[in-house]
Amino acid sequence: MQQLSQSWYRAGESVGFVPTMGALHRGHMTLVEKARRENDRVVVSIYVNPTQFGPKEDLNKYPRPRREDLALCRAAGVDAVFAPTSLYPEDFSTWVEETVQSKGRCAVSRPIHFRGVATVVLKLFNIVLPDRAYFGRKDAQQVDVIERMVRDLDVPVKVVPVETVRDADGLALSSRNRYLSPEERKRALAFPRLLRLASQQKQPEAWLRQALRRVVGIKLDYVELANGRLCAAVWVGTTRLIDNRPVRGKR
Ligand code: AMP
Repeated sequence: MQQLSQSWYRAGESVGFVPTMGALHRGHMTLVEKARRENDRVVVSIYVNPTQFGPKEDLNKYPRPRREDLALCRAAGVDAVFAPTSLYPEDFSTWVEETVQSKGRCAVSRPIHFRGVATVVLKLFNIVLPDRAYFGRKDAQQVDVIERMVRDLDVPVKVVPVETVRDADGLALSSRNRYLSPEERKRALAFPRLLRLASQQKQPEAWLRQALRRVVGIKLDYVELANGRLCAAVWVGTTRLIDNRPVRGKR
């Protein structure tokens, strides 16, 4: 992968990169389309990164529809799909740890998550050597951590955030939505609806916390205002969903 990217670099071609864990949907493909428009070459990585999953999380059951993913990439004009089986030598011992944006929000229930994300993203940047890398705002804290890492460590990659892509019913697209039963999915819709309403309130955090506590079938994980966005996570059955919106008067 590195050699391929270096050959593109020598030919004066720019490289756009979309890191993913696969189970690709319209959200991922929106990042791919933007990368396609803005670069000569597009690379998608598909790697379910074990170091960002906690011991009780869904690493083993995470969906891996490899053939469908490759067909979607081919149809979207992706130049290369980088899908390694493992990125970690057995005696791997070096970590990237961002220490401010990685606190609070998702890190409260997923304490090792962002160390795994920052480490794998820097590794992938070093392998793919992109000019631009595309990340979804759906994972707002991830964008904050990556932007900070890139700035702090002088990584020569332009991070391009892309707005959240939603289904017609308002639910943010996510590979984890397929865990929801039809009944759970119906119940989950209160989450994006209340988040949108909350983002227009004077006290969005308190408003959303109270509103979500009243919804049957949704268990609140956190609500937190960070960097101008109202961010939240909830449990619907055994599925954890995250979402966020810019708050009134901010971006
Ligand atoms: P994942 O495969 O879940 O790690 O996601 C790969 C990339 O796609 C990340 O940058 C995500 O933020 C982005 N992404 C996932 N879902 C969406 C969505 N609904 N809208 C926009 N970007 C998304």
